[in-house]
Amino acid sequence: MKQYDFLIVGAGLYGAVFAREMTDADKRCLVIDKRNNTGGNVYCDKIEGINVHSYGPHIFHTNDKSIWDYVNSFVEFNNFRYSPLADYKGHLYNLPFNMNTFYQLWGVKTPSEANEKIRDQVKKSGIIHPKNLEEQAISMVGIDIYKTLIKGYTEKQWGRKATELPQFIIKRLPVRFAFDNNYFNDKYQGIPIGGYNNLIDGLLKNIEVKTNVDFFNSREELSKQADCIIYTGKLDEFYNYQYGYLEYRSLRFDHKVLDIPNYQGVAVINSTEVEIPHTRIVEHKHFEFGVQPTTIITKEYPEEWTPGKEAYYPINDEKNNRKLKKYMELVNQENNVVFGGRLAEYRYYDMHQVIGSALKKTKSMIK
Ligand code: UDP
Repeated sequence: MKQYDFLIVGAGLYGAVFAREMTDADKRCLVIDKRNNTGGNVYCDKIEGINVHSYGPHIFHTNDKSIWDYVNSFVEFNNFRYSPLADYKGHLYNLPFNMNTFYQLWGVKTPSEANEKIRDQVKKSGIIHPKNLEEQAISMVGIDIYKTLIKGYTEKQWGRKATELPQFIIKRLPVRFAFDNNYFNDKYQGIPIGGYNNLIDGLLKNIEVKTNVDFFNSREELSKQADCIIYTGKLDEFYNYQYGYLEYRSLRFDHKVLDIPNYQGVAVINSTEVEIPHTRIVEHKHFEFGVQPTTIITKEYPEEWTPGKEAYYPINDEKNNRKLKKYMELVNQENNVVFGGRLAEYRYYDMHQVIGSALKKTKSMIK
């Protein structure tokens, strides 16, 4: 008999949920992670008493009560509501696109005036069946908002023309004819009280975890120890990039401690001009309503992923999806490897979707 039922490669959300559920079902799990901490990209560093979202801002939201109850069973969540601003040429606009934004841009005060403005612009654009992100965006909000708040941000973020990007990316954002700056439509939203590490620590409680262990440094030896591998790393790396690289966007973070209590008065300000190289500035204390005497801000700079960098966003355009299909043929031949999470499934998942996917998988396997 092997030492473990499951070797879980990666201690991010997918791996941690999988390990929790299987441990609770009396399975023997070993979780490994190449980083020296658990949590994957939800991991926070605590600096000056502030939880710093070291791998980019994470705001938990879901419409699914069972997922909300699940995460709250490990740590209580606060009532944070994500309401970022966008800075375009020195002017601030509310996000997501809502009556406040329309008022700031056009001076329109009523939903019918705003609606008419957008309808006119959409009509003028002549777009009926949008085929890419640019056309999708214009057909949702018209040309003014596209040019001011979408085009620059999107092209920096993805390093590609908006006409070369898939539509689904912009459909993530609500368009709302109400004075309501809540970025998400979901019923449940918040940040774990005390930070995301509390969620991960709760999930991994009493489970064997080895950090600083890179699966690819001792793949054979590690694989022998378990009946089944749960792999949450990059899909193409698992197959030694045999069909070539899947493309990802990476990020560079410039963190700064400032000797003032409040820098920008909000958790996130997006910078939507293409000439400004960062996409957003995050002021971490606002996620937890912090009142510390200092503050920490992070400028986020998108860049193309190259070997050695962290992969953050899969680029699900046609070219990469074709490559993904080929990798999926290999995946479908595996008997005792499960691929889960943003990197291994090569999908632009939110946290609640990762958790949902891990819960679904464990449920079906336990059955
Ligand atoms: N987006 C934009 N302007 C903004 C914010 C978002 O054009 O001010 C577009 C951009 O293409 C981005 C996508 O909407 O990649 C999804 O944004 P979201 O905030 O969901 O991105 P994430 O927080 O996952 O990076």
